[in-house]
Amino acid sequence: MADLKSVLTSIYSHLIHQENKGVIASYIPELSKQDINKFGIHLQHINGDVFSVGDWQIPFSIQSISKVLTLSKAISFINNNLWKRLDVEPSGNPFNYLSLLEQENGIPRNPLINAGAMVVADVLLSHLKNPKTDFLNYVRVLANDHSITYDEKVAASEKETGYKNYAIANLLKSFGNLKNSVDEVLDFYFHQCALKMNCEQLSKTFFMLSNKGKCLNHIQHLTAPQAKRINAIMLTCGFYDEAGEFAFEVGLPGKSGVGGGIVALLPNQFVISIWSPGLNTKGNSLLGMQALEQFTTKTNLSIF
Ligand code: GLN
Repeated sequence: MADLKSVLTSIYSHLIHQENKGVIASYIPELSKQDINKFGIHLQHINGDVFSVGDWQIPFSIQSISKVLTLSKAISFINNNLWKRLDVEPSGNPFNYLSLLEQENGIPRNPLINAGAMVVADVLLSHLKNPKTDFLNYVRVLANDHSITYDEKVAASEKETGYKNYAIANLLKSFGNLKNSVDEVLDFYFHQCALKMNCEQLSKTFFMLSNKGKCLNHIQHLTAPQAKRINAIMLTCGFYDEAGEFAFEVGLPGKSGVGGGIVALLPNQFVISIWSPGLNTKGNSLLGMQALEQFTTKTNLSIF
């Protein structure tokens, strides 16, 4: 096996000097305060090896990466019934695209676009006693780290400016695909997106998806087939209208967020988390995409 540490270090040292680092998301005002020069990588191997470089200890807003975690939680208790309210097809459109939802009668294309994540949030609201606290605890158990929290400032910032998300939630509600109120669903959704984690915490949290549903603490959170399905959805839908490009360039199931994080994994081998807040035009971390492309190309470690 290639020497993963030296491969990661050389990718990092090369990319950190690249002039074009993308553009920081500013439509959520609180996110625009991020430093474009931050760049961290953390890899957790299933054999226990860990490699990290750069700003892997600095927490950032995981944003849409949280959609995989809410989906995992929802699947763990309602499984197949979820798919009556949601599809599993790539959308080929941006994460907050509206018109497809109207054409398709309020059934979101998949759980990783905003509309789909709101339906999943609605399911969690209906099933959890204290939704925000219970979901946070779920994430803390997955990561085996009780210091993880919501960034209330980011949640409030998105609440103030999330006009498109209000439109999506209202449209879902008008089609009867939300059981709870628009305000409750969005409050939960804005909080899940405002989860704050560093690269190490993210790798640990996603470890179960590389390990047939079992977290680092040996708790079985999902069955192996459930983990397989979530990985398939990440591969086909994790990067919105850049999902094809990510599969083509990187070849791993993964998920991005507008905070500049990307987590990707090779089942039965490793999870890798990267953070660089500058985004490309599709809303995915520019350096993150490049780092992962170089990593899987240099190591030959991809699902293909
Ligand atoms: N909270 C963000 C939004 O709804 C999440 C988007 C993302 O990370 N792609 O716009």
